[in-house]
Amino acid sequence: MQRRFFDANLHNGFCTRVPQRGQLASINVFTNFVFVAITDQNMPALVFVSNASDAIQLAQEGRPASGSQATTSARADFQDAPHAPARHKSGRPRRALAKTQGQNLYWFEDAPADLQFNRYIRSGYRAGLSYGECVCSVFQYHNETGNIWAHFVPLLCILISLLSRTLRPWPTAQWAFYENVAPIALVFGASVLYHTFMAHHTTYRKWLLLDMCGVFLVFIASMHRLLDWGFPCHPQTATLFTVLYYSSAVGCIIAGLKATTALHRGLPLGMLFLVRLTALLTRKLLNSGAQDSLHAYAIMEACTVTGATLNVLRVPERWLQPQVKPRTPGLLDYWLNSHQLMHILVTVSMLQLHRGASIDYAYWASQPQCPA
Ligand SMILES: [Zn+2]
Repeated sequence: MQRRFFDANLHNGFCTRVPQRGQLASINVFTNFVFVAITDQNMPALVFVSNASDAIQLAQEGRPASGSQATTSARADFQDAPHAPARHKSGRPRRALAKTQGQNLYWFEDAPADLQFNRYIRSGYRAGLSYGECVCSVFQYHNETGNIWAHFVPLLCILISLLSRTLRPWPTAQWAFYENVAPIALVFGASVLYHTFMAHHTTYRKWLLLDMCGVFLVFIASMHRLLDWGFPCHPQTATLFTVLYYSSAVGCIIAGLKATTALHRGLPLGMLFLVRLTALLTRKLLNSGAQDSLHAYAIMEACTVTGATLNVLRVPERWLQPQVKPRTPGLLDYWLNSHQLMHILVTVSMLQLHRGASIDYAYWASQPQCPA
């Protein structure tokens, strides 16, 4: 609740609405610092304390704790306070900044806690940006440049192919075509948005959620064609797998969206993968549907699993730079780290997903006769 109040009212490092006396306005900012606003005789005050318990005491008593510095101006420049968090007006961390590559980029140690999810990526972090700065950073060089463009390029290719009619809907199944292509475009789009705006100073979690929704969407929507066209002569088997997949998908989505680590986000996707694998093996055993599409789907699954595994294990950066020394750049900070390799593998996987569905469509459109 307090955190929500903070998020709603903090703009560019300041409370934009004066809280009631003693009301805890914010806990957070970056690393160890806590920023609290209280009112005293209807005058807002900005107070800086160095830990959460001081902040709570401060909020409860309505006066600054000993050792904390306070100012009575709501617009006081908190950079000047001795205990001020290391930020300037844009909300960007300022303390102990390690400028790398000539930009305001940060070492792992100085990055916001939300961005400290891979300790093997040592440098090149953006942080505390406005939306405009995030957009500009798409064209700058930092440790997310590769991640952004690895999915921005495929997204542009899809859009250009659709607009130029190089990529056309299947003649007798236009809805199914968009059911296949739209989630693929959306997963790339959500990924680009996440990696672009993850450096925004207050909205990291929302963008992460969007990225996760894109991943779930593509795996849920993509399965429909694989099952619907994959068992033309075994409708009961198709129904069984459809019910099994979509019922487990509900639980997996809930678990995935609540997850806080890469491993916990990967486990529900692993569960869906096992159901898909069983469906593919069943198609193979029954010699059901277009067998050529199984090859494409097998490559898709192999790329997905390999990418997810690399991402969860933080390989190869874990192997190539295992000694994580403070403020020392790593070899793979900018290029070819686990997340970027996953992005490349996801791109291959999405291509195979469309190829498999196209083969399935061609087989389905030929109206194969089932044995009596
Ligand atoms: Zn990503």
